[in-house]
Amino acid sequence: MTKKTFEHCKPEDVQAVFTDVAAEELAAYLVLFVRPEAVGNPPCPHCGERSRFRWGLTHGQGNCTCGWPGRYYHYIGPREHRYGGYQTLLWYHPDQVQRSRS
Ligand SMILES: [Zn+2]
Repeated sequence: MTKKTFEHCKPEDVQAVFTDVAAEELAAYLVLFVRPEAVGNPPCPHCGERSRFRWGLTHGQGNCTCGWPGRYYHYIGPREHRYGGYQTLLWYHPDQVQRSRS
C-alpha cells in the first residue's frame, strides 16, 4: 500500500473564509489541516469521499463516516470567542492523526 502525501493547508487556500485573521496566526493554525482542493466540501483524505462529515461529541469537530477526523468550527483571531467561529470543513492532516488499534 503506497502512502499518499498531503500538503498542509495554507492561508491562501482559505483566505475567503478566515477574514481578518493575522496571516502568521492563521498559518500556524492551518498546519493542523490538509490543504483543501476547494473550500467548502473537500474530499476526505482517507477515503476520498465528500459529504460524509458527521458531527462528533466535541463541539465544532466530527469525522467522516470512514472515521477520519475533521473540524467545521474554527476558533481563531477575531472570532476566537464568538459562537461558531469561522465555519468551513477542514480535514485533519495525517501528521495530526494517530490510528487507534481496534
Ligand atoms: Zn473518509
